[in-house]
Amino acid sequence: MDLPLSFEFFPPKTAEGAEKLRGVRQQLYALAPEFCSVTYGAGGSTQEGTFNAVREILAEGVAAASHFSCVGATRATVREQLKMLKAMGVERLVALRGDLPSGYGVGGEFQYASDLVAFIRAETGDDFRIEVAAYPEIHPQARSADADLKAFVAKVRAGADSAITQYFYNTDAYFRFVDDALKLGVTTPVVPGIMPITSSTQLMRFSDACGAEIPRWIRLRLQGFGDDTASIKAFGLDVVTDLCDQLRCAGAPGLHFYTMNQSAATMEIVRRLAAA
Ligand code: FAD
Repeated sequence: MDLPLSFEFFPPKTAEGAEKLRGVRQQLYALAPEFCSVTYGAGGSTQEGTFNAVREILAEGVAAASHFSCVGATRATVREQLKMLKAMGVERLVALRGDLPSGYGVGGEFQYASDLVAFIRAETGDDFRIEVAAYPEIHPQARSADADLKAFVAKVRAGADSAITQYFYNTDAYFRFVDDALKLGVTTPVVPGIMPITSSTQLMRFSDACGAEIPRWIRLRLQGFGDDTASIKAFGLDVVTDLCDQLRCAGAPGLHFYTMNQSAATMEIVRRLAAA
């Protein structure tokens, strides 16, 4: 592939999940990713689970990015964890605010991801390459599209090196976001986040939670397939390969795959892109 690739995993909750993920990673390593990242605190997973998975990736000889969210955290705990990550050999972080489980107050000493980015830079200089999240279809809690764009610019100015987007299926939203950020002086790479489509219900559930829009025509086609998983997967491969191809042709700086700890769809999409 002529484009840098990165793969995201979530920390497995069981020993069987960890074993399966080792196999998935080995398959995906054949695609020579620039780095692999592990989510943090999402879906009830533990921080230790993230750090263990990151440790394994590094031991496998691949660059690892630890996602790092600051919601509810104190400066002291973040400082300690940064020291630990550095000692582990981590050189890349995805710095996030994160989401509090419902019922929790805001708490903690960081309000926004931009506060975390500034703190990491102040504490550790250039020890880490810092990625931040970007939302071409606008973060669900944003006051307005304009406020969200400005919040993104603030994260970059606080010291982010590059960004990874929430997934989307509408390339116009992505290119407009990149153009608008550029008008505000942001030249850092904004790498599209790619969610392969392998299950209709899972996609709808995630998209409702994170505010990613499933275009009506995709939603209706998926609904029309009912329980026919083979047709859903075949359709998903066509749609997402096309999306990636459009992004590549229009100059996206890389592709970051939300693998959901599976290898088949990502591998097939990359195989088709390489053959195109
Ligand atoms: P922020 O950039 O702080 O933005 C949060 C909200 O605050 C936005 O609505 C923004 O517009 C607003 N805002 C920001 N600054 C200001 C300001 N100064 N004034 C007013 N409003 C402001 N979640 C996890 O729990 N674990 C993960 O590992 C994880 N990985 C992710 C990876 C990627 C690539 C992406 C795109 C998302 C990920 N998330 C993860 C989800 C993320 O934590 C949530 O979307 C969260 O709600 C926002 O995090 P953020 O870092 O984008 O926050």
